[in-house]
This record gives sequence, structure tokens and C-alpha cells, in this order.
Amino acid sequence: MGDPKGFLKIKRQNCSYRSIDERVKDFHEVAILPENEHSQEQSSRCMDCGTPFCHWGCPLGNYIPEWNQFIAEGLWEKAFTLLVATNNMPEITGRICPALCEYACVLGINDEAVTIRENELAIIEYAFKHGFIKPFPPQKRSGKNVAVIGSGPSGLACAAQLNRAGHKVVVFEKADKIGGILRYGIPYFKLEKWVIDRRLDIWKKEGIEFRVNVDVGGDYPASELLKNFDAVCLASGSRVPRDLNIKGRNLKGIHFALDYLTQSNKRVAHDSINGEIIDAKGGKVVIIGGGDTGSDCVGTAHRQGASSVVQIEVLPKPPEHRTESMPWPTYPFILKTTSSHQEGGERYWSVLTKEFIGEGGRLKKLNCVKVEFSPNKENGRLEMKEIPGSEFEIEADLAILAVGFLHPEHKGLISDLGLKLDKRGNIETDGNFMSSRPGIFAAGDARTGQSLVVKAISEGRRAAYHIDTYLMGKSWLPII
Ligand SMILES: Cc1cc2nc3c(=O)[nH]c(=O)nc-3n(C[C@H](O)[C@H](O)[C@H](O)COP(=O)(O)OP(=O)(O)OC[C@H]3O[C@@H](n4cnc5c(N)ncnc54)[C@H](O)[C@@H]3O)c2cc1C
Ligand code: SF4
Repeated sequence: MGDPKGFLKIKRQNCSYRSIDERVKDFHEVAILPENEHSQEQSSRCMDCGTPFCHWGCPLGNYIPEWNQFIAEGLWEKAFTLLVATNNMPEITGRICPALCEYACVLGINDEAVTIRENELAIIEYAFKHGFIKPFPPQKRSGKNVAVIGSGPSGLACAAQLNRAGHKVVVFEKADKIGGILRYGIPYFKLEKWVIDRRLDIWKKEGIEFRVNVDVGGDYPASELLKNFDAVCLASGSRVPRDLNIKGRNLKGIHFALDYLTQSNKRVAHDSINGEIIDAKGGKVVIIGGGDTGSDCVGTAHRQGASSVVQIEVLPKPPEHRTESMPWPTYPFILKTTSSHQEGGERYWSVLTKEFIGEGGRLKKLNCVKVEFSPNKENGRLEMKEIPGSEFEIEADLAILAVGFLHPEHKGLISDLGLKLDKRGNIETDGNFMSSRPGIFAAGDARTGQSLVVKAISEGRRAAYHIDTYLMGKSWLPII
């Protein structure tokens, strides 16, 4: 154990961020990689709990206390070996995970949690720097072919695990580059894309085949898939956006968040853009939706040079600290202020958008009203009521809809394969991740609805275990 009393002597200290003045001028990552000594010191705060709730909080079941102890002792290679036993992409989760584990950390009961996510990042970056990470192609091939549809974190984790088990894996991606929302969604200032490419290089050398610009169900019919592969994993995400069907929705200047963020990432990469350029430069931007996707739009709009940025949310402002209804170690729905929020702009809560108002076919302003919520006397459910006389307008040249996602695209592959859907429109599976059609599995957001990267990785790994078992009768892959 590093230092049994480390948490009594050392306070939590997060890694630094580049100064706001500097970072809003570019799209490079805002966070600065922690120094090794800093991570060793922070890891020594870990109490190596007998019942480590951090481990319970992590959807991947990461061996957190164990690798914290190894870092504290400077045993980086041992920490690395444990880290990659449960996570195929710690360099991604180490950058963008909301760290459910930290909300469950025992220290969080009356002190600040261990900096688990940053420690994870420190280990994996140390490992890349010191050459611990090399391609390890499987020694024996099984002769089985598996297609993974979609190259987001769930598809990639599934492919990596199945390749490790010796199967020939082909990942199909309809976009022009691999990565799903990691590539086209999450902005560069949270995750630079060389991080994905560095990992892809290793996987290619290990034998995974990636085919981009292939829309399976469109360019590549479902019948071909069934003919050419012994098993299929649908990891196609949940990307049908929720719309705001109110008056004025057809005005120019109103876009979905994922379209805006995808285009921004393509522009940063100097890729060509088809269709209208969505640019915040010099404009008044209103982002509808107070969540993380909305926050990514806030940071993007600032970098594009918006003259003002307002983010609005229909729900009330969340509490700043845990309440009785969200006790430790559960994930609390508390106020989140991201690095993008720190860069400027205004945030309003309890605001409902009633109408988009335009001039000459272009958006000019939003007509909004304040709302309040109270429990229904009969069923206790919260009901929203407009506050009379609270109507107001917000000027806007660009409105971004970041109000969530409904379910995966049904047209094309899912309907061609005749797959059953659950009540929310996601792909229905049994306890082994198999869909209503034998040999067709599903993982990630396509199965669960829009979620988190760490959950998508966990889904991909679990689906891989079940696919391997389906193909071989048993599997030595970890079940997570
Ligand atoms: C803007 C944004 C920011 C986010 N930020 C974070 C964050 O900071 N941290 C976090 O933990 N989570 C974040 N999330 C959530 C997280 O990114 C998703 O939960 C995760 O990417 C889901 O992974 P997935 O593999 O299931 O699907 P996706 O990442 O959506 O990937 C699915 C892929 O399948 C491809 N595809 C679909 N249909 C076909 C087809 N027929 N043929 C071929 N390819 C197909 C798509 O093109 C896509 O590339 C964010 C989400 C959004 C929208
Ligand atoms: S709960 Fe916190 S203090 Fe306890 S083992 Fe996990 S990281 Fe360490």
C-alpha cells in the first residue's frame, strides 16, 4: 500500500487546464496531462478500501484500488497490466469519462474523492510513452468471421475482444472515419483525434479489418452480411435526434447538435463539408438542452467566435450538492459546470422554448416562457406549468437542438433483419446480448439508448463474450 494515511495529508488536486484566454483560440485539448509525480501523490490518497465502492461504480469493474496502489509505489507497468485487463481504451475514458467511480469513492463521504479518472489517464499515457503497448495478434485463428456494424466505442471494444479470441473481425462504418461519436460528436478540445488513431494502428496490426464508407443495410445488403459472417454485432448507436416540433422549426439557422458537432470536427480536421456550413462566427447562439452535448456545443460556439452563447434547459437548476434523494454512492444529478461553461456564456434553467421567430426565412429570436414543476396530487409525478406573464425573447442567429436522442435508426439494417425492438425503440436482446434473430447480437447505445462511453465499452466487451460463446461453445474472454 502506498501511504495508509495519504488521504489525511494530501488534498485532492485536479490536473490543470490551459488558460481560458489561450484555449478558446484553438481546438486542442483543454486539460493538461498530469505529471507522473502528481499522479503518484494523488494515488497515494487511495485508502485501498476493503469494500472498494469505486470498483462497484465503474461499469467496467476496473481494478481501481489495486492500480492506485501500484502508481503510488511507482510500479507503472503493473498498474498498466491491471488497467488494460478491463478496459480496451483507457486513454479515451481517462479523458472524457464522467467518472462514475469517483462519485462512488468512499473518500467522497466526507472528503474529496480520489482523482481516479486522471490516474487512469496517467497510467495509459505512461504506458504508451514507455513502449508497453505493442500489437499482440492472436496466436491462433478460429476460422470464424464476425461483422461488427458501427465503429463507436461499443463496436471497437467488441471487435478488440473478438479479435483477441482469434476470430476474423470486420468493422463496418458508414462514416468516412472510424470512431463513432468519439470521432464525430465529442469535440477535439475534449478528445483530440490522434488518440483514436494511435489505438486504431495497434488494432489494425493485430488483424482487425476496418471498412469505412459502408452503410450496412444500404450499400452492403443484410443478405450479404448473413451469407458472409458467422455472427454479427450491431453497434450502430442511438442517433435519431429528438426534435422540437414547434412553430418556426423550419427556419434557416436551426440545427441538431450532432450535425453541428460532426461538422465542426470535420472542419478542424480540414475535411471537406457537404451542404450548408453551420458556423457560429459573429452570431448569437442559443443552445437548447442543458446536458453534456449542449455543453460541447457551448465550447464549440466559443471557439468559432460566437458573439454570445446562451444555453437553456427546461428542467430546474439542479442542486450543487447531493440531496437525500441521491445519497452516496449513487451517481448524483447535481449541477455540472464543465470547462466549456467556464469559458463564458449564460445558462438558464426552467425555460421552455415556445416558438422560433424569423425574418426572411432566417431565425431571429426564440420566444420562451419560464416554467415550474410540481408533483401531481394523484400519481406524484412532476408536472410542468408555464408561469403566467413570464414570457421573454432571446435573440438568436443560430439555435442548436441538444435535447437528446430517441433510438437507433430503424430504417435499413434493423428493419431489413426484422429485429424486435424494445418499448423505447432500441434493439431488444436476451440476457446474452442476442437479438430476436439468432447469431445477430447488439451492443452499446443501439441496445440501451444514448448512454456513456464507459458503458458502451462495457457493452461491447460483454457482447464479445457472448458472441464467442455462441461461436465456440465456451469463452475464456472476461464477461465484462
Ligand atoms: C455530442 C456528444 C458528446 C458526448 N460526450 C460524451 C462524453 O464526454 N463522455 C461520455 O462518456 N459519453 C459521451 N457521449 C455519449 C457517448 O459518446 C455514446 O454513449 C457512445 O459513443 C455510444 O457508443 P456506441 O458505440 O454505442 O455508438 P456510436 O458512438 O454512436 O457509434 C455508432 C456508429 O455506428 C455507425 N453506423 C450506424 N449505422 C450503421 C450502418 N448501417 N452501417 C455502418 N455503420 C453504421 C455510425 O456511423 C457510428 O459511427 C456523448 C454523446 C454525444 C452525442
Ligand atoms: S473507494 Fe476511493 S479510496 Fe476506496 S479504494 Fe476506491 S478509489 Fe481508493
